[in-house]
Amino acid sequence: MSVVVPVHDEEEVLPEFQRRLAAVLDALDCDAEVVYVNDGSTDRSLALLAGFHRDDGRVGVIDLSRNFGKEIAMTAGLDAAAGDAVIVIDADLQDPPECIPEMVEAWREGSEIVLMRRRNREQEGFLKRSTAKAFYRVIGRMSTIDIPADVGDFRLLSRRAVGALQRFPERSRFMKGLFAWIGFRSHEIEYDRDRRFAGKTSWNYWRLWNFALEGITSFSAAPLKIASYIGFSTALVAFIYGAYVIGKTLLIGNPVPGYPTLVTLILFLGGLQLMALGIIGEYLARMFVEVKQRPLYLVQQHLAPRRTGTNGRDS
Ligand code: UDP
Ligand code: MG
Repeated sequence: MSVVVPVHDEEEVLPEFQRRLAAVLDALDCDAEVVYVNDGSTDRSLALLAGFHRDDGRVGVIDLSRNFGKEIAMTAGLDAAAGDAVIVIDADLQDPPECIPEMVEAWREGSEIVLMRRRNREQEGFLKRSTAKAFYRVIGRMSTIDIPADVGDFRLLSRRAVGALQRFPERSRFMKGLFAWIGFRSHEIEYDRDRRFAGKTSWNYWRLWNFALEGITSFSAAPLKIASYIGFSTALVAFIYGAYVIGKTLLIGNPVPGYPTLVTLILFLGGLQLMALGIIGEYLARMFVEVKQRPLYLVQQHLAPRRTGTNGRDS
Protein backbone atom coordinates (compact mmCIF):
# COMPACT_ATOMS: atom_id res chain seq x y z
CA MET A 1 0.00 0.00 0.00
CA SER A 2 1.38 3.39 -0.98
CA VAL A 3 0.08 6.64 0.45
CA VAL A 4 0.85 9.71 -1.69
CA VAL A 5 0.81 13.07 0.09
CA PRO A 6 1.34 16.32 -1.84
CA VAL A 7 2.83 18.91 0.50
CA HIS A 8 3.10 22.65 -0.04
CA ASP A 9 3.95 24.82 2.97
CA GLU A 10 2.33 22.62 5.58
CA GLU A 11 4.84 22.86 8.47
CA GLU A 12 2.09 23.49 11.02
CA VAL A 13 0.17 20.34 10.13
CA LEU A 14 2.82 17.81 9.16
CA PRO A 15 3.84 16.44 12.59
CA GLU A 16 0.22 15.77 13.53
CA PHE A 17 -0.52 14.35 10.08
CA GLN A 18 2.46 11.96 10.21
CA ARG A 19 1.48 10.89 13.74
CA ARG A 20 -2.09 10.05 12.77
CA LEU A 21 -1.11 8.42 9.47
CA ALA A 22 1.60 6.28 11.10
CA ALA A 23 -0.89 5.09 13.72
CA VAL A 24 -3.30 4.02 10.97
CA LEU A 25 -0.56 2.28 8.97
CA ASP A 26 0.71 0.50 12.10
CA ALA A 27 -2.69 -1.10 12.49
CA LEU A 28 -3.00 -2.00 8.80
CA ASP A 29 -2.40 -5.66 8.00
CA CYS A 30 -0.26 -5.06 4.91
CA ASP A 31 3.05 -3.51 3.90
CA ALA A 32 2.88 0.23 3.54
CA GLU A 33 4.94 3.16 2.33
CA VAL A 34 4.29 6.87 2.43
CA VAL A 35 5.38 9.04 -0.49
CA TYR A 36 5.54 12.69 0.52
CA VAL A 37 5.92 15.02 -2.42
CA ASN A 38 7.38 18.34 -1.36
CA ASP A 39 5.94 20.74 -3.92
CA GLY A 40 8.38 23.61 -3.57
CA SER A 41 7.58 24.50 0.03
CA THR A 42 9.20 27.69 1.27
CA ASP A 43 8.81 26.87 4.97
CA ARG A 44 10.29 24.09 7.12
CA SER A 45 8.19 21.36 5.51
CA LEU A 46 11.14 19.71 3.76
CA ALA A 47 13.19 19.54 6.97
CA LEU A 48 10.22 17.96 8.75
CA LEU A 49 9.78 15.42 5.95
CA ALA A 50 13.46 14.51 6.05
CA GLY A 51 13.00 13.92 9.79
CA PHE A 52 10.06 11.58 9.15
CA HIS A 53 12.20 9.74 6.60
CA ARG A 54 14.91 9.32 9.18
CA ASP A 55 12.61 8.09 11.93
CA ASP A 56 10.22 5.89 9.96
CA GLY A 57 11.50 3.40 7.38
CA ARG A 58 8.23 3.52 5.50
CA VAL A 59 8.54 7.18 4.57
CA GLY A 60 9.92 8.32 1.24
CA VAL A 61 10.27 11.93 0.14
CA ILE A 62 10.31 13.38 -3.34
CA ASP A 63 11.49 16.94 -3.37
CA LEU A 64 10.39 18.71 -6.55
CA SER A 65 12.68 21.40 -7.91
CA ARG A 66 10.03 24.11 -7.45
CA ASN A 67 6.29 24.52 -6.93
CA PHE A 68 4.53 22.69 -9.75
CA GLY A 69 0.99 22.70 -8.32
CA LYS A 70 -0.98 19.95 -6.65
CA GLU A 71 -1.94 18.11 -9.84
CA ILE A 72 1.68 17.65 -10.89
CA ALA A 73 2.78 16.87 -7.33
CA MET A 74 0.22 14.04 -7.25
CA THR A 75 1.50 12.78 -10.60
CA ALA A 76 5.06 12.71 -9.26
CA GLY A 77 3.83 10.79 -6.22
CA LEU A 78 1.92 8.28 -8.33
CA ASP A 79 5.01 7.74 -10.50
CA ALA A 80 7.12 6.96 -7.44
CA ALA A 81 4.57 4.84 -5.59
CA ALA A 82 5.41 1.15 -5.63
CA GLY A 83 2.33 -0.33 -3.96
CA ASP A 84 -0.33 -2.61 -5.41
CA ALA A 85 -2.74 0.13 -4.44
CA VAL A 86 -2.13 3.84 -4.01
CA ILE A 87 -4.04 6.27 -1.82
CA VAL A 88 -3.87 10.00 -2.50
CA ILE A 89 -4.51 12.14 0.56
CA ASP A 90 -4.10 15.83 1.48
CA ALA A 91 -1.61 16.74 4.16
CA ASP A 92 -3.85 19.25 5.90
CA LEU A 93 -5.91 16.56 7.70
CA GLN A 94 -9.08 17.54 5.85
CA ASP A 95 -9.11 13.95 4.64
CA PRO A 96 -8.94 11.81 7.80
CA PRO A 97 -6.25 9.09 7.52
CA GLU A 98 -8.55 6.96 9.69
CA CYS A 99 -10.63 6.26 6.55
CA ILE A 100 -7.76 4.27 5.02
CA PRO A 101 -8.63 0.81 6.45
CA GLU A 102 -12.14 1.07 5.02
CA MET A 103 -10.73 2.03 1.61
CA VAL A 104 -8.33 -0.92 1.66
CA GLU A 105 -11.22 -3.18 2.54
CA ALA A 106 -13.22 -2.01 -0.49
CA TRP A 107 -10.17 -2.54 -2.71
CA ARG A 108 -9.71 -6.06 -1.40
CA GLU A 109 -13.32 -6.74 -2.31
CA GLY A 110 -12.46 -6.06 -5.93
CA SER A 111 -12.81 -2.32 -6.62
CA GLU A 112 -10.10 -0.77 -8.76
CA ILE A 113 -10.95 2.71 -7.54
CA VAL A 114 -12.35 3.77 -4.19
CA LEU A 115 -13.84 7.27 -4.27
CA MET A 116 -14.36 9.28 -1.12
CA ARG A 117 -17.48 11.44 -1.28
CA ARG A 118 -17.86 14.36 1.10
CA ARG A 119 -20.99 14.00 3.14
CA ASN A 120 -21.20 17.66 4.08
CA ARG A 121 -19.77 20.83 2.67
CA GLU A 122 -21.39 22.99 5.35
CA GLN A 123 -18.18 24.34 6.82
CA GLU A 124 -17.27 25.76 3.43
CA GLY A 125 -18.63 29.23 2.78
CA PHE A 126 -21.75 29.82 0.71
CA LEU A 127 -19.76 31.27 -2.20
CA LYS A 128 -17.37 28.31 -2.34
CA ARG A 129 -20.24 25.82 -2.22
CA SER A 130 -22.34 27.48 -4.89
CA THR A 131 -19.42 28.05 -7.27
CA ALA A 132 -18.36 24.43 -6.82
CA LYS A 133 -21.88 23.29 -7.61
CA ALA A 134 -22.07 25.52 -10.70
CA PHE A 135 -18.73 24.18 -11.89
CA TYR A 136 -19.82 20.54 -11.63
CA ARG A 137 -23.04 21.35 -13.45
CA VAL A 138 -21.31 23.17 -16.30
CA ILE A 139 -18.60 20.56 -16.81
CA GLY A 140 -21.20 17.78 -16.54
CA ARG A 141 -23.17 19.32 -19.39
CA MET A 142 -20.17 20.12 -21.53
CA SER A 143 -18.12 16.98 -21.43
CA THR A 144 -18.96 13.39 -22.23
CA ILE A 145 -17.27 11.95 -19.17
CA ASP A 146 -19.08 11.99 -15.87
CA ILE A 147 -17.11 13.81 -13.19
CA PRO A 148 -18.65 12.98 -9.82
CA ALA A 149 -19.52 16.01 -7.68
CA ASP A 150 -18.25 16.39 -4.11
CA VAL A 151 -15.44 13.93 -4.78
CA GLY A 152 -11.97 15.36 -4.34
CA ASP A 153 -8.58 13.82 -4.91
CA PHE A 154 -8.80 11.68 -1.77
CA ARG A 155 -9.12 8.19 -3.23
CA LEU A 156 -7.57 4.77 -3.65
CA LEU A 157 -6.30 3.59 -7.02
CA SER A 158 -5.31 0.05 -7.88
CA ARG A 159 -2.00 -0.61 -9.58
CA ARG A 160 -3.87 -1.03 -12.87
CA ALA A 161 -5.59 2.34 -12.49
CA VAL A 162 -2.27 4.01 -11.68
CA GLY A 163 -0.75 2.40 -14.78
CA ALA A 164 -3.62 3.78 -16.84
CA LEU A 165 -3.02 7.29 -15.50
CA GLN A 166 0.65 7.05 -16.34
CA ARG A 167 -0.22 6.56 -19.97
CA PHE A 168 -1.59 10.10 -20.16
CA PRO A 169 1.09 12.26 -21.72
CA GLU A 170 -0.73 15.56 -21.27
CA ARG A 171 0.77 18.46 -19.40
CA SER A 172 -2.47 20.10 -18.34
CA ARG A 173 -3.46 17.50 -15.82
CA PHE A 174 -6.95 18.01 -14.52
CA MET A 175 -6.81 15.00 -12.22
CA LYS A 176 -10.51 14.92 -11.34
CA GLY A 177 -11.21 14.52 -15.05
CA LEU A 178 -8.46 11.99 -15.69
CA PHE A 179 -9.56 9.91 -12.71
CA ALA A 180 -13.06 9.83 -14.18
CA TRP A 181 -11.87 9.22 -17.73
CA ILE A 182 -10.08 5.97 -16.96
CA GLY A 183 -13.26 4.32 -15.67
CA PHE A 184 -12.79 0.86 -14.03
CA ARG A 185 -14.95 -0.61 -11.34
CA SER A 186 -15.26 1.93 -8.58
CA HIS A 187 -16.75 2.05 -5.15
CA GLU A 188 -17.88 5.11 -3.21
CA ILE A 189 -17.49 5.72 0.49
CA GLU A 190 -18.99 8.73 2.25
CA TYR A 191 -16.90 10.63 4.74
CA ASP A 192 -16.99 13.82 6.76
CA ARG A 193 -14.42 16.25 5.51
CA ASP A 194 -12.82 18.00 8.44
CA ARG A 195 -11.66 21.55 8.68
CA ARG A 196 -8.08 22.33 7.83
CA PHE A 197 -6.05 21.36 10.93
CA ALA A 198 -3.77 24.39 10.67
CA GLY A 199 -2.18 26.61 8.08
CA LYS A 200 -4.19 28.00 5.21
CA THR A 201 -5.38 26.86 1.81
CA SER A 202 -3.28 27.84 -1.17
CA TRP A 203 -6.38 28.19 -3.33
CA ASN A 204 -7.96 31.56 -3.89
CA TYR A 205 -10.83 32.29 -6.26
CA TRP A 206 -8.58 33.37 -9.12
CA ARG A 207 -6.70 30.08 -8.88
CA LEU A 208 -9.96 28.14 -8.66
CA TRP A 209 -11.30 29.97 -11.74
CA ASN A 210 -8.21 29.02 -13.71
CA PHE A 211 -8.50 25.48 -12.42
CA ALA A 212 -12.10 25.37 -13.68
CA LEU A 213 -11.02 26.72 -17.09
CA GLU A 214 -8.32 24.06 -17.21
CA GLY A 215 -10.90 21.39 -16.48
CA ILE A 216 -13.37 22.58 -19.08
CA THR A 217 -10.86 23.12 -21.87
CA SER A 218 -9.12 19.79 -21.33
CA PHE A 219 -12.34 17.78 -21.27
CA SER A 220 -14.69 19.59 -23.60
CA ALA A 221 -14.71 21.35 -26.96
CA ALA A 222 -18.17 22.76 -26.25
CA PRO A 223 -17.03 26.41 -25.88
CA LEU A 224 -15.67 26.27 -29.43
CA LYS A 225 -18.99 24.99 -30.69
CA ILE A 226 -20.92 27.57 -28.71
CA ALA A 227 -18.78 30.28 -30.33
CA SER A 228 -19.63 29.06 -33.80
CA TYR A 229 -23.35 28.78 -33.01
CA ILE A 230 -23.42 32.31 -31.65
CA GLY A 231 -21.62 33.43 -34.82
CA PHE A 232 -24.10 31.58 -36.98
CA SER A 233 -27.18 33.01 -35.28
CA THR A 234 -25.80 36.57 -35.37
CA ALA A 235 -25.14 36.18 -39.09
CA LEU A 236 -28.72 35.00 -39.57
CA VAL A 237 -30.15 37.97 -37.68
CA ALA A 238 -27.82 40.31 -39.59
CA PHE A 239 -29.03 38.86 -42.89
CA ILE A 240 -32.68 39.40 -42.01
CA TYR A 241 -32.00 42.90 -40.76
CA GLY A 242 -29.98 43.63 -43.94
CA ALA A 243 -32.92 42.53 -46.11
CA TYR A 244 -35.20 44.80 -44.10
CA VAL A 245 -32.88 47.83 -44.47
CA ILE A 246 -32.43 47.28 -48.22
CA GLY A 247 -36.16 46.81 -48.73
CA LYS A 248 -36.94 49.96 -46.76
CA THR A 249 -34.38 52.00 -48.73
CA LEU A 250 -35.83 50.78 -52.05
CA LEU A 251 -39.39 51.59 -51.03
CA ILE A 252 -39.11 54.89 -49.19
CA GLY A 253 -35.53 55.96 -49.97
CA ASN A 254 -32.83 56.70 -47.45
CA PRO A 255 -33.45 59.92 -45.50
CA VAL A 256 -30.60 59.99 -42.90
CA PRO A 257 -28.13 57.09 -42.52
CA GLY A 258 -28.60 55.37 -39.14
CA TYR A 259 -25.53 56.30 -37.12
CA PRO A 260 -26.74 54.68 -33.83
CA THR A 261 -27.52 51.39 -35.58
CA LEU A 262 -24.09 51.33 -37.20
CA VAL A 263 -22.22 52.04 -34.01
CA THR A 264 -24.23 49.45 -32.08
CA LEU A 265 -23.67 46.79 -34.72
CA ILE A 266 -19.95 47.46 -35.03
CA LEU A 267 -19.40 47.32 -31.28
CA PHE A 268 -21.59 44.25 -30.85
CA LEU A 269 -19.95 42.29 -33.66
CA GLY A 270 -16.48 43.42 -32.57
CA GLY A 271 -17.20 42.13 -29.09
CA LEU A 272 -18.48 38.82 -30.40
CA GLN A 273 -15.42 38.36 -32.57
CA LEU A 274 -13.05 39.08 -29.70
CA MET A 275 -14.94 36.63 -27.51
CA ALA A 276 -14.71 33.87 -30.11
CA LEU A 277 -11.02 34.64 -30.62
CA GLY A 278 -10.51 34.47 -26.86
CA ILE A 279 -12.09 31.03 -26.70
CA ILE A 280 -9.94 29.80 -29.57
CA GLY A 281 -6.98 31.36 -27.77
CA GLU A 282 -7.66 29.37 -24.61
CA TYR A 283 -7.42 26.15 -26.58
CA LEU A 284 -4.48 27.33 -28.66
CA ALA A 285 -2.51 28.29 -25.55
CA ARG A 286 -3.03 24.81 -24.16
CA MET A 287 -2.02 23.19 -27.42
CA PHE A 288 1.12 25.33 -27.32
CA VAL A 289 1.93 23.95 -23.87
CA GLU A 290 1.31 20.37 -25.01
CA VAL A 291 3.33 20.72 -28.20
CA LYS A 292 6.42 21.89 -26.33
CA GLN A 293 6.55 18.47 -24.64
CA ARG A 294 8.36 19.77 -21.61
CA PRO A 295 8.93 17.35 -18.76
CA LEU A 296 6.05 17.28 -16.27
CA TYR A 297 8.22 17.91 -13.25
CA LEU A 298 11.83 17.83 -12.10
CA VAL A 299 13.02 16.14 -8.95
CA GLN A 300 15.68 17.79 -6.84
CA GLN A 301 16.15 15.02 -4.33
CA HIS A 302 14.61 11.62 -3.77
CA LEU A 303 14.71 9.94 -0.37
CA ALA A 304 13.44 6.42 -0.99
CA PRO A 305 11.71 4.53 1.82
CA ARG A 306 14.21 2.21 3.46
CA ARG A 307 11.84 -0.54 4.35
CA THR A 308 8.24 -1.35 3.65
CA GLY A 309 7.74 -4.27 6.03
CA THR A 310 4.51 -4.58 8.01
CA ASN A 311 4.60 -2.05 10.84
CA GLY A 312 7.91 -1.21 9.21
CA ARG A 313 9.68 0.87 11.80
CA ASP A 314 13.32 -0.01 11.80
CA SER A 315 15.63 -0.10 14.81
N1 UDP B 1 -0.66 21.44 -2.45
C1 UDP B 1 0.43 21.15 -3.27
N2 UDP B 1 0.86 22.09 -4.15
C2 UDP B 1 0.24 23.31 -4.28
C3 UDP B 1 -0.89 23.56 -3.46
C4 UDP B 1 -1.32 22.61 -2.56
O1 UDP B 1 1.01 20.08 -3.19
O2 UDP B 1 0.68 24.12 -5.10
C5 UDP B 1 -1.12 20.40 -1.48
C6 UDP B 1 -1.32 20.91 -0.05
O3 UDP B 1 -0.14 20.84 0.70
C7 UDP B 1 -2.37 19.94 0.49
C8 UDP B 1 -3.20 19.63 -0.74
O4 UDP B 1 -2.38 19.96 -1.88
O5 UDP B 1 -1.79 18.74 0.95
C9 UDP B 1 -4.50 20.40 -0.76
O6 UDP B 1 -4.24 21.77 -0.69
P1 UDP B 1 -5.19 22.78 0.06
O7 UDP B 1 -5.57 22.27 1.40
O8 UDP B 1 -4.52 24.12 0.00
O9 UDP B 1 -6.45 22.80 -0.91
P2 UDP B 1 -8.00 22.67 -0.49
O10 UDP B 1 -8.10 21.59 0.56
O11 UDP B 1 -8.38 24.00 0.00
O12 UDP B 1 -8.66 22.28 -1.77
MG1 MG C 1 -7.19 21.45 2.21
